[in-house]
Amino acid sequence: METWQTLAYIVASVLFILGLKMLGRAETARRGNRVSALGMLVAVVATLAAGGLDYSWIVVGLVIGAGVGAVAARRVQMTQMPEMVALFNGSGGVASMLVGWAEYLRTPDAEGVTAFAVVVTVVIGGLCATGSVVAFAKLSERISGAPIRFDRQQVLNAALLALVALAGAWVVFDALAAGGLPLVGLAFALLLLGALALGVLAVIPIGGADMPIVVALLNSYSGLAAAAAGFVIDNNVLVVAGSLVGASGLILTQIMCKAMNRSLANVLFSGFGSAPTGVAGAEVTGEAKPISAEDAYFVLEAARSVLVVPGYGMAVAQAQHAVKELADQLEAIGAEVRFAIHPVAGRMPGHMNVLLAEANVAYEALVEPDDVNPSMESIDVAIVIGANDVVNPSAKEDPDSPLFGMPIVEVDRARTVFVLKRSMNPGFSGVENALFTRENTRMLFGDAKASITALVGAFKDT
Ligand code: NDP
Repeated sequence: METWQTLAYIVASVLFILGLKMLGRAETARRGNRVSALGMLVAVVATLAAGGLDYSWIVVGLVIGAGVGAVAARRVQMTQMPEMVALFNGSGGVASMLVGWAEYLRTPDAEGVTAFAVVVTVVIGGLCATGSVVAFAKLSERISGAPIRFDRQQVLNAALLALVALAGAWVVFDALAAGGLPLVGLAFALLLLGALALGVLAVIPIGGADMPIVVALLNSYSGLAAAAAGFVIDNNVLVVAGSLVGASGLILTQIMCKAMNRSLANVLFSGFGSAPTGVAGAEVTGEAKPISAEDAYFVLEAARSVLVVPGYGMAVAQAQHAVKELADQLEAIGAEVRFAIHPVAGRMPGHMNVLLAEANVAYEALVEPDDVNPSMESIDVAIVIGANDVVNPSAKEDPDSPLFGMPIVEVDRARTVFVLKRSMNPGFSGVENALFTRENTRMLFGDAKASITALVGAFKDT
């Protein structure tokens, strides 16, 4: 590799690291994104300028990729971003898997270390590719979001894993023996197909409220596969970028596990909840008490301390700007307004933070469940906007609930709770929510944006 190219890769790596650091704070996040993108530009230009490549194929790939990207960017709604992110992870996996596969075809008798890197790339890339497609299908509700389980599933998964390991070992031994082992082509085919099947089988039994952990893990896999691909083609910047994605994905997975109070092993091997459909727990009794926007306004007007708890429904309704307007009005009459963000609220990590930042909600107004739960009794009104699982009291009260043990925003202890949603339907986990029938809860039925706009209108009219 030329010295200038090495230097360019070092510059790109430093830009990635700086960009990632900036993404850690709301004020610098946008700049961080640009800095990282600049790093990628430097890396791409340095790779292309080094020569020795068949540019015609690169142009074909660029046109197809950019075409698909441009159409997706125009067509995909903001509410479809979580499933889009799942597909992005999958694309990363496919790309790395293809690099490993192509390298195997190009030099089947590569050195042992390279052969090992090829095996790792194909396995993690393949697993990430099909696993992400299943995650996409679950998040977009093309298939049920509940865990899909069948008899002897874990035995099948273990057998498949063993087959993949054996096939991988065969490919590496063939390389160590400088080629010539019999049936090595078959072993590689089994490795590839086994990894693809493993991705599907590993993700289908996970569902319900455990999905955020899977999404974070797949994100990490896409990075690890890219890092392994970097070893395969001896490209340092790919190793660095892949490792950064892999490591940050693992950190995110750990944060999500902590947010759900689950261990990773528990999520990966036990499935979510005890019932095959993922719906379990005690039946919710009692009647929900509806309230009109007008009546809700009178309660809010007298409130001194308000806690907003956004969830997936706020994203669906695109209510964030109306929510910000309501918060401004409440503050104008002297109320303290805070936003409690549960780490798994919405359908992708940081979903609520992104929406509220878009509506210019001050970062200082955001609190975590642990910050606000101890003083929940002092909250006059908790407004739950399209959130459901993250405020479900069965998570702390009902040992039979699949959600049991997951920390929640404990709005059930606030003086009054307004729940803004369209029906009594459960959230992503499929678990009924006892909050809706609590004595201090009032249901403000309807689309969240319409309900908040009505509340804002009531403030304006007086
Ligand atoms: P939930 O999925 O629990 O509930 C969302 C609620 O929003 C629904 O009950 C729905 O009720 C309501 N809703 C939908 N559209 C509207 C609308 N237009 N106006 C008003 N309400 C609406 O959301 P939470 O955020 O509380 O919890 C997130 C769940 O998703 C958790 O189970 C989490 O594990 C899971 N998940 C999270 C991921 C992440 O990374 N954050 C990734 C994958 C899954 P109704 O239909 O009655 O209106």
